[in-house]
Amino acid sequence: MKRSISLIVALLCCGSLLMSCSDPAAGNESTTGKDEASTNQTTGPENETDPAASITLDTNTADIPIGGYVDPAVTVSADGTDQKLLWATDNAAVAVVDDSGRIIGKGEGQCVITACLESDPKVAASITVNVTNPTSADGLTYINGILIVNKTYALPSTYSPDVDSEANTALAKMFQAAKADGISLTIVSGYRSYERQNTLYNNYVARDGVEAADTYSARAGHSEHQTGLAFDLNSLEESFGETKEGIWLREHCWEYGFIIRYPKGKEDITGYMYEPWHVRYLGKSTAKSVFESGLCLEEYLNVTSVYAQ
Ligand SMILES: [Zn+2]
Repeated sequence: MKRSISLIVALLCCGSLLMSCSDPAAGNESTTGKDEASTNQTTGPENETDPAASITLDTNTADIPIGGYVDPAVTVSADGTDQKLLWATDNAAVAVVDDSGRIIGKGEGQCVITACLESDPKVAASITVNVTNPTSADGLTYINGILIVNKTYALPSTYSPDVDSEANTALAKMFQAAKADGISLTIVSGYRSYERQNTLYNNYVARDGVEAADTYSARAGHSEHQTGLAFDLNSLEESFGETKEGIWLREHCWEYGFIIRYPKGKEDITGYMYEPWHVRYLGKSTAKSVFESGLCLEEYLNVTSVYAQ
């Protein structure tokens, strides 16, 4: 509540001064970030009161998908470093921005996001954001070529591909390699239809309530198991992550094209509790790249995982 009030205050404050915040003539020519040391101020000549303060963003345009985000890097001149920044959007239906400056795509279109100093809103910089719809007509969402299913992005109820054959072959190879290392891996669950997920989720809600169920079970259409590319292995207990099987899986699954989809410490980002047993097939090169990045898939693709309601 406190946070939402301060955000509203911030929006009102910045919004009421939107003319000076978003007016390109007020400065902000230098937003390429190539010349951090330059004296290209965001303050215009009419702004003699505080000529030393300036804000620079590392880019002046961004293209993001609906549900995707960008965190523009902000450079505040020495005079303004201890100043609070206020962020505002000129069209919340297209993109919103939070207190930290993270810009999140909401709907197709273009809008302008502005950062200004709380103490002097005339000191401002802005970024033009183009938001596109990443979901194709068939209802599938690919970001950078990766089929993404999470709380933000759903699959159509009619999508029922069954287990992906390439993922299944890769899984068999992984099981063989594990066995050679003295590790026994078994499938607990693989492909799950929309209807099956609907039943499961509703049962969990009846037992634990929506809030709790949402931390460990996906709503119908939002389960990765419906892609045919995800598998639960061995044991659905968090302690599985500390068994020799769980450790082997975490260290080696990328070699066969899989990632641990819901890693420990990323719960707020993936939207799910740590699931050391749930692997998602991405193919070898992408899985290697995600593994080496140390990021969860949402961070790797710069996308959110939040239900619309
Ligand atoms: Zn799973």
